[in-house]
Amino acid sequence: MTSIEHNLQQVRQRISAAANQCGRDPQEITLLAVSKTKPASVVEEAAAAGQQCFGENYVQEGVDKIHQLADPALVWHFIGPLQSNKSRLVAESFDWCHTVDRLRIATRLNEQRPENIAPLNVLIQINISDEQSKSGIPLAELDELAQAIAQLPRLRLRGLMAIPAPEQEYERQLAVCQQMAAAFNTLQKAYPDVDTLSLGMSDDMEAAIAAGSTMVRIGTAIFGARDYGSAANHNN
Ligand SMILES: *Cc1c(COP(=O)(O)O)cnc(C)c1O
Repeated sequence: MTSIEHNLQQVRQRISAAANQCGRDPQEITLLAVSKTKPASVVEEAAAAGQQCFGENYVQEGVDKIHQLADPALVWHFIGPLQSNKSRLVAESFDWCHTVDRLRIATRLNEQRPENIAPLNVLIQINISDEQSKSGIPLAELDELAQAIAQLPRLRLRGLMAIPAPEQEYERQLAVCQQMAAAFNTLQKAYPDVDTLSLGMSDDMEAAIAAGSTMVRIGTAIFGARDYGSAANHNN
């Protein structure tokens, strides 16, 4: 067994344990393998071990990997901050975008999504706890943005994403994740396509799953530490 295969098995076990702990079916939770800064060969290795969904933060790097691997079985999620001038690449190559946080970006993605492929799956990013961060909208603005996105035919609103501020204590992690889950449940009632709550990373996966996350984003525990020397040149 390769180390990536081994790591994937460990992470999947951790997801199952967390789900079982709170009486959820582990199948309800998708593992998104965050492969940013890792070469295509490493993604290929994870794919060979059965991993299907991959998350990328840097547009050009992600697009390069998507084209290098050219594997229609893989599902590619853009999870990084998105600048307007890079939206076309995301619209043309990715299956999902987790970081939609303004109508201007949604409108561009809608216009740029090619007609011959399925609508782009989008999540609205919520700034749930980290007031310093510029990414994501406050929950108070969710209704308005969701209504506008639901009108765009080349986008499919699938749910919400958040990156909670780091927090050591489980109870506090849980409280933040429950706020996200409540907003997600309300959204789901209004929009039948909504089925995805992208919430939970290595340090808060258990709390996120207990609250109702349907997708956890894990990088380092699968692929090992990142070499940020190369990431610094990405310029997103
Ligand atoms: C990098 C990243 C992750 C994964 O982080 P790790 O610490 O490598 O597990 C998850 N979500 C987002 C948005 C990220 O940028």
